[in-house]
Amino acid sequence: MRTEQINFKKNNGLIPVIIQDYKSLEVLMLGYMNKTALDKTMLEQKVTFYSRTRKCLWTKGEVSGNYLKVVDITPDCDSDCLLILAKTNGPTCHLGTTSCFKTFIPNSFLYTLERIIDNRIDSQNSSSYTFDLFEKGINKIAQKVGEEAIELIIESKDNRLDLFKNEAADLLYHFIILLKAKGISLTEIEQTLKQRNSQSL
Ligand code: AMP
Ligand code: ZN
Ligand code: ZN
Ligand code: ZN
Repeated sequence: MRTEQINFKKNNGLIPVIIQDYKSLEVLMLGYMNKTALDKTMLEQKVTFYSRTRKCLWTKGEVSGNYLKVVDITPDCDSDCLLILAKTNGPTCHLGTTSCFKTFIPNSFLYTLERIIDNRIDSQNSSSYTFDLFEKGINKIAQKVGEEAIELIIESKDNRLDLFKNEAADLLYHFIILLKAKGISLTEIEQTLKQRNSQSL
């Protein structure tokens, strides 16, 4: 996309920009950009808005550290607003919530967890269990998934629902790490499930 093709004329040089989480597709916030903000955003691959109250450029995260890393930028049909898919590293709302909107997206926490796992691995922090396991490689991760599955089988024969829930959580967590090690995202598995579902209809 070239910034020249965007129409900034309609609204005093400003266009609305919708920020969506690149994995969960949750709508995170809405901000405004002028051409300078968009140029800076494209250059740095980090979202910079134009603050209408402060009347200056505002790189989201400049104080909180919760930046919005650009994954994809697309204009709408008549190029007078933008949709940005972004990768976050913390809450987007200044009130501490993931999104500025109190939407309820079923299961979106799984995608949040996937992002947390991504961040742990990117951090290369050896005190992180996630990073440590990831470094051990695919065989070890797959083995952990197998172990957690067996623990889940064992707990399913029992009446302790709390233990069953813990093992189910362990399995999901390790399952996401295995996907990551294969370079696959949760969304892709969801797509596979959706495709199967449409075939059987
Ligand atoms: P940040 O950009 O996250 O470093 O936050 C800097 C300041 O920008 C905050 O103190 C808020 O005033 C404002 N701010 C941050 N995030 C949002 C948001 N999602 N919506 C509106 N204002 C925000
Ligand atoms: Zn439009
Ligand atoms: Zn907010
Ligand atoms: Zn377990």
